[in-house]
Amino acid sequence: MSRDFTYSGSPAHIVFGEGKSDTAGEWVEKLGCSRALVLSTPQQKVDAEALAERLGPLAVGVFAGAVMHTPVDVTEAAMKVVAETKADCVVSLGGGSTTGLGKAIAYRTNLPQIVIPTTYAGSEVTPILGQTEGGRKTTVRHASILPEVVIYDPALTTGLPVGMSVTSGLNAMAHAVEALYAQDRNPISTLMAVEGLRAFKASLPDIIKTPQLLDLRADALYGAWLCGTVLGTVGMALHHKICHTLGGTFDTPHADTHAIMLPHTAAYNAVAVPELLAPVAGIFGGSVGGGLWDFAKQIGAPLALKDLGLT
Ligand code: NAD
Repeated sequence: MSRDFTYSGSPAHIVFGEGKSDTAGEWVEKLGCSRALVLSTPQQKVDAEALAERLGPLAVGVFAGAVMHTPVDVTEAAMKVVAETKADCVVSLGGGSTTGLGKAIAYRTNLPQIVIPTTYAGSEVTPILGQTEGGRKTTVRHASILPEVVIYDPALTTGLPVGMSVTSGLNAMAHAVEALYAQDRNPISTLMAVEGLRAFKASLPDIIKTPQLLDLRADALYGAWLCGTVLGTVGMALHHKICHTLGGTFDTPHADTHAIMLPHTAAYNAVAVPELLAPVAGIFGGSVGGGLWDFAKQIGAPLALKDLGLT
């Protein structure tokens, strides 16, 4: 072992497996709660209502107003529902946008969160909350923001559209690539990052052909957990800051921006830390940037910012 390190494990409960979202009610009770408010985006309202139905008397309502970048006015509207329903926990069903709303509520109330992720964004395993107000996005990191329970149910991801599966997967992979050269990296974060990249390499090229196949979806969701965990435990750098700036300035979609930038930021940093990024070239073949670019192209990802309308 050639360097010193500090390792802090995440205190969250991780539950993984097909059909495990059916255990959400048990987890509400294990948390000592009995009044769950279910959160979702407007697009996933039907699924959120079905989940609330399955929770039965443990659910006190559904707030289906989550949107990207966690605007504070949406959080305030949700906070009114929290107060009216006397909710004692939140159950967030969806991607990073819904998780973001649950985190924003937890940050303000300390209510426990159960998250059932349906994309690969990874927000569910980080103590980080990005919020927007008056066009400005700010980020806070706090223990109350980390969800207590995460239930990964691959069956809920078979309907994630192919295009979003691709960009969301590359978004997750970006966490892993940056974890490999993070200043505060440790042997565990590096293991998780490499395994996360392998899981996406093994699944995404086939997901675009057979998106309904559960085994593939389970591999990708496993990768999402690993990549999200490293995002939550070590610092991110150039790639995430560029994407944050692009998203904040031009309102480019989150996952697409990450997908497009990753081969370029990785290639740029590979010059400085070739030995740390060698696993990336090992997994994707060729050079670090070239291998990632070929992989992105193979799975049909957007490849240029002009694809997002930037001139
Ligand atoms: P998203 O949550 O905005 O989802 C995009 C759309 O896809 C939404 O309409 C959603 O309802 C829909 N969707 C999600 N899963 C689906 C499924 N399985 N089937 C059909 N439709 C589905 O997208 P995202 O990329 O997951 O999240 C982006 C947001 O998350 C951004 O605001 C970003 O800043 C944040 N984020 C935060 C962190 C963090 O650690 N704080 C990490 C990653 C992302």
